[in-house]
Amino acid sequence: MSMRGEKRTEFPQKVRKAAFARACRDCPVEGVENIPGVPQCESCGIELKSGNIEYEHLVPDGLGGEPTLENCGVWCRSSCSKKKTFKEDNPRMQKADRALKSAFGLKPARQKIQSAGFRRAGPQNSASRPLQRKSEQ
Ligand SMILES: [Zn+2]
Repeated sequence: MSMRGEKRTEFPQKVRKAAFARACRDCPVEGVENIPGVPQCESCGIELKSGNIEYEHLVPDGLGGEPTLENCGVWCRSSCSKKKTFKEDNPRMQKADRALKSAFGLKPARQKIQSAGFRRAGPQNSASRPLQRKSEQ
């Protein structure tokens, strides 16, 4: 759940079906040969095997991405989807959350850092105080 209390919006089955068909039909990745009838990752082009497929929000739903075919990427789970989630979406979401928190007073109260401080130094020798010699002590 996001800061604003929204739930994740998953793609409806209709959208997932259409996206899957699109991934089988043509591969948009440059330099990767399209294999007709075979689903290929729309981000890196590898063949998508069962279990290694993710319907990815191109614009994260937490940032207003709609569960539409246009915003749905058929990606490999093992590489592209993982990378996007951890390297792009989560930091973007956290940044948006931080901005929201500071704008609406939701930040935790600041606490003063308690420190042990420094030990008080002993008296220093000075010209106005005569030196005590070891023999006089
Ligand atoms: Zn991929």
